[in-house]
Amino acid sequence: MRRAVFPGSFDPFTLGHYDIVKRGLELFDEVVIGIGRNSTKKETFPIREREEAIRKIFKDEPRIKVQIYDCLTVDFAKQHDAHFILRGVRGVQDFEYERNMAEANKQLGDIETILLYTRPEYAHISSTLVRDLYSYNKDVSAFVPNKLK
Ligand code: ADP
Repeated sequence: MRRAVFPGSFDPFTLGHYDIVKRGLELFDEVVIGIGRNSTKKETFPIREREEAIRKIFKDEPRIKVQIYDCLTVDFAKQHDAHFILRGVRGVQDFEYERNMAEANKQLGDIETILLYTRPEYAHISSTLVRDLYSYNKDVSAFVPNKLK
């Protein structure tokens, strides 16, 4: 069984994240979406709400699991017997960071990182953008999956 974890903050989960997960299912038998509890990042949407919302989006997809974690991503991957980490790259701004993380995770846990390039139509979408719109009571429906609208 080829299993990958897709780690992130998902604060909130966007269409860009959704697209990476769907494409990940073409590569892996199972994708575990790991919502990292990050003590240094201030959260906008409570982590339990994020978990519930993402579970709802994928409720009809048995090959996707959703879990909160508060350990190293390599340890989370090991707990799930996953040998791969799935991540998305929007552009050069993501690239250096992802490369460093991929090298660290390879060294720490012998885990391979698989990077997928964002579809151009989603490249400008970020959780930060959605949070900003949300804070001004603006419509976010063009940026989040249907079931979150
Ligand atoms: P983190 O806090 O770990 O960066 P995020 O929730 O911001 O977590 O992102 C999780 C993953 O999703 C990262 O690999 C990020 O590059 C990717 N991602 C974020 N936005 C998009 C998007 N619009 N299209 C594709 N991938 C994205």
